[in-house]
Amino acid sequence: MYAEIDLGALQHNYRYAKSLGSGKTLAVVKANAYGHGLERVARSLAGGDGFAVATVEEAVSLRDVGLRNRLLVLQGVFDREDLREAVRCRLDLLIHSDYQLDLLRSAPASQPFSVWLKIDTGMGRLGFDCDDAPRIYAALSELPSVRECIITTHLACADEIDSPHNTLQLQRFDRAVRAVRAFAGQNGRRSLPLAQSIANSAALIGLPDARRQWNRAGVMLYGVNPRAGTWQDRKLKNVMTLRSRLIAVRSVRAGETVGYGCDYRFFHDGRFGIVACGYGDGYPRHAPSGTPVLVCGRRTQLVGRVSMDMLAVDLSAIPEATVGTEVELWGGSVPVAEVAANAGTIPYELLGGLTARVPRIYRSSISERE
Ligand SMILES: *Cc1c(COP(=O)(O)O)cnc(C)c1O
Repeated sequence: MYAEIDLGALQHNYRYAKSLGSGKTLAVVKANAYGHGLERVARSLAGGDGFAVATVEEAVSLRDVGLRNRLLVLQGVFDREDLREAVRCRLDLLIHSDYQLDLLRSAPASQPFSVWLKIDTGMGRLGFDCDDAPRIYAALSELPSVRECIITTHLACADEIDSPHNTLQLQRFDRAVRAVRAFAGQNGRRSLPLAQSIANSAALIGLPDARRQWNRAGVMLYGVNPRAGTWQDRKLKNVMTLRSRLIAVRSVRAGETVGYGCDYRFFHDGRFGIVACGYGDGYPRHAPSGTPVLVCGRRTQLVGRVSMDMLAVDLSAIPEATVGTEVELWGGSVPVAEVAANAGTIPYELLGGLTARVPRIYRSSISERE
């Protein structure tokens, strides 16, 4: 089995993300580029505005392969060792807590970097209180190692474009920016250049007010529209297709069962196939019978429980399927979001959870095959 990754589609999606709004767009490549392979994905987007990753380790691995783009660490530094690496690798650092401000005080002035000041406008995860923004901005302004401040926040409900929570978060953000500007305008102070960043994929697509100088596009680059109830978007192209083969084809009598727990019972005489793919590869174990699978260009369904290395599909209506027939577990014909919805999860988890055992095969474009 393998995951075919269409780098042409990835680049198309990045260009589309960039076309929304007038700002710059960081490609979010955390978690192994949402399972697509950090290095290859980053190389193919190296002509863009830069990258965001979650951890210093991820950022270092991008520098180690020679990528010199702007590179933001979304969690910032955790200790002095992180800070040393961050300075050495010329990373953009986010700060969300006072302990990180203390760490930045020990950074050398010789290699100044940009700092992303994160405020919590209602996500309830990382960030300073909005009222603290001027205080943190003031402290950063006094550090010779800091050359720019990008005020940033993260939206909790961006995938629900009509949620009043979005309006509330944007209002709080804009108020904090005004307070920082008022502070920066006071005489006699060094005033750090200021920029803003709010939007993730969902906000970039659905909330024009959230588009600022810097946007952060993640899941949309991989072809998934995160807006609630949508997932698919004709403007986005599918990037990953997870394929495997039938390694056995079996006949079954009415009343017989398939797999662990005798979970699925055939009510008619029929046929089923065993696909070499299981939760050991990252296919969700909780995908129930009925989850779509593509065999011979036709949709059929998963039957019985997913095991570690195998799953079963109903072939009763696909007589031409034989041992060796290719199967699409998710991709251009079976959206990963649909598989995720069946399994009670989100496409982020399935893409990011694809395991190391699955080879990634890169193509520049597979669109003509779809
Ligand atoms: C992961 C992440 C993003 C990207 O989110 P998507 O929904 O994948 O676009 C943006 N900003 C922050 C802070 C993140 O952690």
